[in-house]
Amino acid sequence: MNVWFYAVLIITVGFWIWENLLTLLSSRPVDKLPEEVADVYDPDEYSKSQSYSRAKNKFGMLTSTFQLVLFISFFLLGGFGWLDEQVRVIAGKSFFSFVPSFFIRHEILHGTLFIGALIVASGILNLPFSLYSTFVIEEKFGFNKTTLKTFFKDRIVGLILAVILGIPLLTLVLWLFGFAASDPLTWLYVWAALFIIQMALMYIAPVWIMPLFNKFEPLEDGELKDAINDFASKENFALQGVFKMDGSKRSSKANAYFTGFGKNRRIVLFDTLIDSMSTDELVAVLAHEMGHCKKKHIMKQLGISLISMGLIFYLIQIMLNNSSLFEAFQVKEVSIYASLVFISPLLEPINYIIGILSSVLSRKHEYEADEYSAKSFGKPEKLITALKTLSRDNLSNLTPHPLQVFTEYSHPPLKERIRALKKY
Ligand code: ZN
Repeated sequence: MNVWFYAVLIITVGFWIWENLLTLLSSRPVDKLPEEVADVYDPDEYSKSQSYSRAKNKFGMLTSTFQLVLFISFFLLGGFGWLDEQVRVIAGKSFFSFVPSFFIRHEILHGTLFIGALIVASGILNLPFSLYSTFVIEEKFGFNKTTLKTFFKDRIVGLILAVILGIPLLTLVLWLFGFAASDPLTWLYVWAALFIIQMALMYIAPVWIMPLFNKFEPLEDGELKDAINDFASKENFALQGVFKMDGSKRSSKANAYFTGFGKNRRIVLFDTLIDSMSTDELVAVLAHEMGHCKKKHIMKQLGISLISMGLIFYLIQIMLNNSSLFEAFQVKEVSIYASLVFISPLLEPINYIIGILSSVLSRKHEYEADEYSAKSFGKPEKLITALKTLSRDNLSNLTPHPLQVFTEYSHPPLKERIRALKKY
């Protein structure tokens, strides 16, 4: 077997070991909670939060092991070669004679069937795990509010979206990469095309996509709206952008976020958040989200994604139709669509580094947004109690391992945010 064969094995097994190691490190018990967060839980709640973390970690390890075994078996047993042969037979059947020849010539039909089959199969195999996570673990700790109907509706809507958005996107990528053999700048075209599409999707998501899953309503009149109104007008922020979301439809966990840009920018407060906090705390949280907007954090994250997409497409072009890679996957005929699938495990280390950079940036942005809230609203102590309430209600792990924080956390741990807020 060739070097790619071993590279795929080493990378997939290596990541499995590394990620589970981080999980184990974060699960270790601590003797004493740091003083900043000592009052978040009473002893009962603390032990409940510990069991919740343990349950989630154990289940996460089980899930990742299942996925690893599945991938390695399929890889070693020549599953990819078998699937590719089936796809070629099926695509040649008269059933598909309605498909325009453009889609056959560029192997877009083949690619859609090949990648579609892999996505559908992994979705079905992972379904029991999602069901268990929602209806057993989350249920046991009192978080789950999802009904089976909502659970399956979410998946069906997700699948329809994946088909509507995914097939044209795949068609575009396969068609463009078809020029790679003759044009060394193809990766640039793919990059530009997908970047424009990503921007467009980010723009329409708050208005067209997110409402398919949740209800968004402008805040109702009352004390909260007045308080927010006063604050927003002081900061010159358009209040039309603040929405209440029915998060309680799926989970009792609370959250708030800032999304979109331009006319479609939105600050979203979960109904569960509104129910669990005082008006001052809610305004402090809203001011944090406004901080993300004022400091253009979405655009900065987009910058990282722009650079990394360029790098990824460049590497894909270099590796396209590499016959040794196809040999490692035991697939006879080289193709662009299968190249995309086979290159992805090899890109894992690069994606991982990009992920770390993006979470470093994101944690920096969280501190900046906290600072904005503390300085503009002038009540850092309210943001502190709000963050404590959030952690308590979500049974957060208050003592994650620093290595896991560094590599995976988009938000700094609570104790560090409190430490920073106390300076204001
Ligand atoms: Zn934030």
